[in-house]
Amino acid sequence: MAIRFENGIVITLGKNNRIIWNGSVVTEGEKITAVGDAKELKKSFPVAESIDCTGKIILPGFICTHHHFYSTMARGMSVPGEPAANFVEILERLWWKLDKALSSDDVTVSAQIPLIECIRNGTTTVIDHHASPSCRDGSLDLIESAVRQAGIRASLCYEVSDRNIRGGGIAENQRFIKKVGQGDGQIAAMMGLHASFTLSDETLENCVGIAKDAGVGCHVHVAEDAADRDDSIKKFGIPTVKRLDKMGVTGKSSIFVHCVHIDESEMDIIATTKTSIVHNPESNMNNAVGVSKVLEFLNKGILVGLGTDGMSSDMLAQMRCAYLLQRLANHDPRVAFMEAPQLLLKNNPEICERQFGLHLGEINQGLPADLAILDYDPPTPLNEGNFLGHLLFGLVDATVDTTVCKGKILMKGKKILILDEERISTRSRELASQMWARL
Ligand SMILES: [Zn+2]
Repeated sequence: MAIRFENGIVITLGKNNRIIWNGSVVTEGEKITAVGDAKELKKSFPVAESIDCTGKIILPGFICTHHHFYSTMARGMSVPGEPAANFVEILERLWWKLDKALSSDDVTVSAQIPLIECIRNGTTTVIDHHASPSCRDGSLDLIESAVRQAGIRASLCYEVSDRNIRGGGIAENQRFIKKVGQGDGQIAAMMGLHASFTLSDETLENCVGIAKDAGVGCHVHVAEDAADRDDSIKKFGIPTVKRLDKMGVTGKSSIFVHCVHIDESEMDIIATTKTSIVHNPESNMNNAVGVSKVLEFLNKGILVGLGTDGMSSDMLAQMRCAYLLQRLANHDPRVAFMEAPQLLLKNNPEICERQFGLHLGEINQGLPADLAILDYDPPTPLNEGNFLGHLLFGLVDATVDTTVCKGKILMKGKKILILDEERISTRSRELASQMWARL
């Protein structure tokens, strides 16, 4: 069915960003069929359903290139004992206890909650990284059905690590990668790896072999904390990126998350191998691990995207955090104004093109109909030349009114249409309190 989203300010993004005041976007099935002046499109595209977007901005749906859906159940959870004093203690005292306690019901509901939050924030594509060692086999299927039910797109993987059992999670990834195959544009698969310091050479070799045979990339945390770098140097005599490159983990489809503690020669390896980096500023600040050298990465020609690392599903807030953090860390109020939006609006779509084979992040004829429609009546002139100013200081706080993915309206008038939000939240509270009692 064709739908006309009309009378809004359309911001197409893409190579030739156009801002169309009083514009419309027409969709049919999963694609955009027309973009242009509202009056003209009303005449030339009579449709069954039209959505009035007066006082609203129509943007392409946002993308998160590193998320952990399962982290939902940590919200409000108290961790007994002394507060974790460093990154490794945070993993040992919080995350590795939490993921081990997840049941199959927890896996489903802890995906549904952030999926609802994605829809609320106009995030229509996510690259997720999952761990649930006590409910490992089949866990990716549970998340896949939650994603399909929610109606957004997601690339999924299971976090392989030797921390509980040698090679734990390899079979789950292998099975899911085989099942997904080339993907259907909604679900994609990667080989998930925790991090160098929890993976033996033997496990890495096994994972890389499976990923290469299937033609998929690896999704791995890299040098998030100095502990990962120190471990690699101590055990293997080389820093993290060099070790991972030696083991074949680098490559155009692979995603190296964080890269806070890497040196220039490691950046060169990432650039040469066309591996992507995903920056997660809120998470890095929360874990007090340091600041990624995002501007240097970009200068080296590395494709750097933006993720939330499970902190939230709000990509505009994450973008502003990246902007503020780079300014502060570089002691330079001239930087990051272009770069932070670039990570979200240009680079995240490029990373996703490598996973889904789709051109996302742009509103144009023939492209996927993924839209985020926000309440925003610009208080100052808005044009192609000053859009980033509105984005960083206005749109970032605007409420998403309507979210569309694959041409389907998932939220309209701030009401989630396809999931029973109240029922899922009630169930999540019940399961979370039971899960906390098991810790
Ligand atoms: Zn992560």
